[in-house]
Amino acid sequence: MTKEVIVNGALGKMGQEVVKLLNRTDGFKLVSAVDKVDIGEDIHKLLGVSAPVVEIESDLAEAISKTEPDAVVDFTTPQVVMENIETGLENGINMVIGTTGITEADIDKIEDWTEEAEAKVIIAPNFAVGAILMMKFSQMAAKYLDQAEIIELHHDQKLDAPSGTAIKTAELINEVQNATEKEVDEIEKIIGARGGEEGNINIHSVRLSGLVAHQEVLFGGVGQTLKIRHDSINRRSFMPGVKLALESLDEVDGVVYGLEKLMEF
Ligand code: NAD
Repeated sequence: MTKEVIVNGALGKMGQEVVKLLNRTDGFKLVSAVDKVDIGEDIHKLLGVSAPVVEIESDLAEAISKTEPDAVVDFTTPQVVMENIETGLENGINMVIGTTGITEADIDKIEDWTEEAEAKVIIAPNFAVGAILMMKFSQMAAKYLDQAEIIELHHDQKLDAPSGTAIKTAELINEVQNATEKEVDEIEKIIGARGGEEGNINIHSVRLSGLVAHQEVLFGGVGQTLKIRHDSINRRSFMPGVKLALESLDEVDGVVYGLEKLMEF
């Protein structure tokens, strides 16, 4: 059966990729595109996609009541994402959320909403399957190598630092690593030169145009180093994860946080 989907934030960098994903993937159909710009324009024409006309709408609630979709995919902004989730759930619609900035307190709220709505929400701060594997492999390595540092590299429009993925990786390493005490009293000649610290892990954030989303996890042990690196070369890298989330909606309950929960290891 075809899954009918609304993309919220359809004209954004990620939203556009999701619109294209739905168009090229059997079993999915874009039924509405919501954004705050180019209202009334045909999203497919704007993106150069050969597909039936879908006009851009400005109001998610209206788009839902017109089309009664199977799911909403949201890639908007941290400022509006909670409002969007509430709107979707109030209308009993399952949601796939890629927008970042959702806190633990927000998740508690979303859990309450899903119970009332009997709808499901999959939230993934990182939809790149390779990035999830990088985190898993890093946690495996951390059991055997007792020093680690993270370098995360992103495009220069990224607002937050370090990335959520870097923090999550450090948390996973800290859970299992027998960290050794630093043997030297470091002198930081330029403040921040050693990066920020999450537990025992130093995280360094690089911001440059030309980059998309990249991370290296460097491990040190006696007489050896190990480097685990993931590169999202373009935003299409996130689409297999979005597809997996849409396909998994039928099998999950309530709120699922993290793409890793949908993957088998
Ligand atoms: P973007 O700025 O290119 O796109 C955001 C879009 O949302 C814009 O078109 C904007 O007009 C629209 N928008 C803003 N408010 C809206 C509202 N109330 N209703 C509908 N549309 C609205 O940003 P982006 O690069 O596409 O990223 C979007 C979000 O996804 C960010 O939070 C980003 O951090 C996150 N992101 C997540 C992943 C992941 O794997 N989960 C990957 C990349 C980016």
